[in-house]
Amino acid sequence: MTNYFDDKETISPEERENDQNRRLSRMVTLGYNHSERLKTILDELGVNPADIKSIRDLEKLPVISREEVVELELQAPPFGGFCRNDADIDRIFISPGPVYEPHLRENTLWARGYFAAGFGKGDIVLNTFSYHMVAAGLTFHEGLRQTGATVVPAGTSGTEMQVRLISDLGITGYTGTPSFLMAIINKAEEMGHDFKKDFKLKKASFVAEPLLPRVRKTFENKYGINTYQMYGATEVGDIAYECGEKNGWHICEEVIIEIVDPATGKRVEDGKLGEVVVTRLNDIFFLFRFGTGDLSSIIEEKCPCGRTSYRLNGIAGRVGDAVKVRGLFIAPTQLKEISEKMGDIKFRIVITRESYKDYVTAILELEEGEADRVCHLEKRFGDLFQRICTVKVNKILIEKPGTMTDYKIILDKREWVS
Ligand SMILES: [Zn+2]
Repeated sequence: MTNYFDDKETISPEERENDQNRRLSRMVTLGYNHSERLKTILDELGVNPADIKSIRDLEKLPVISREEVVELELQAPPFGGFCRNDADIDRIFISPGPVYEPHLRENTLWARGYFAAGFGKGDIVLNTFSYHMVAAGLTFHEGLRQTGATVVPAGTSGTEMQVRLISDLGITGYTGTPSFLMAIINKAEEMGHDFKKDFKLKKASFVAEPLLPRVRKTFENKYGINTYQMYGATEVGDIAYECGEKNGWHICEEVIIEIVDPATGKRVEDGKLGEVVVTRLNDIFFLFRFGTGDLSSIIEEKCPCGRTSYRLNGIAGRVGDAVKVRGLFIAPTQLKEISEKMGDIKFRIVITRESYKDYVTAILELEEGEADRVCHLEKRFGDLFQRICTVKVNKILIEKPGTMTDYKIILDKREWVS
């Protein structure tokens, strides 16, 4: 068994930069000829494709946020003009927005992260990401397969079923969110199992949700599960992953990361905190400088694991108001839609953490009325919220109109660092 997924992970940073510059230059030329959107962007800015020769030149292009991608896709359905017209796309994913993404076929997609986490031949891995519409389930599945592991497409089945699979199939690894694994462990204990003794599940690769240090400690010390983190976005695929050192996340070889000041789109000083902006080098989808809205900084020091890529220093928080709840984004635009659909009702949502899970409280401004009417409105709000944001509200509170003076539609009260 080798230590690295491929040779690219150990080339010198200079070699990597030269290689990425070459691929970037090629992608811009290709995109200019095949993507209406990129052609429009460059023409409007008066930038010639030949002007983008290196990572530094990317600053000539605008940062495009998730919300802008949604808007551009609405203007030019389904892919906003980013996608090559003659591309051979094997599948199209849908995420809340709705946003459509062509599957970027690449056999390294997510595989580096799983490989670095020790997944491989002989492993039977429980993949608890949804296989329905969204990219997660299938893409992680294929990433795992690239390492040689066998995958059980458990998806979002209930915790009791997951415990059953872990027990019956001799599951050795888990991929999903940390909160769901904790829920599975709790269920197993409730069912009378000793998780550490009874089961073979000894490693977990988490994505789509932060892993709190104290939660990590519980997994590792109490349950004997070696935990790893990966980081990515539906629009661009995998971005970074943790190695055995568990000190920063290695940037994937197929992406260019810039850390920028969200206000200007210019790169911040080395090592400083800024927005993570991603360009995925590929031949199908010409989305340059995707603004993740996540805050991080770069670690340039060489990692003892031998990989030479720079590392992201975790995620410090969110730039804008869009928040990730249970692995899914809730954007202000979605909340505005709910408000409109309910006759411009005023409300805000507060996100907290309750026993390892994101907890969503909605506070609605309503005139006091008969209990029946309020009950009906609460139900309608709950249903709309789940349909539009694809996340369930845990609690609905009613307040009198005028109570919300400091009006912020999303209040994120979660604390990720303990
Ligand atoms: Zn490393």
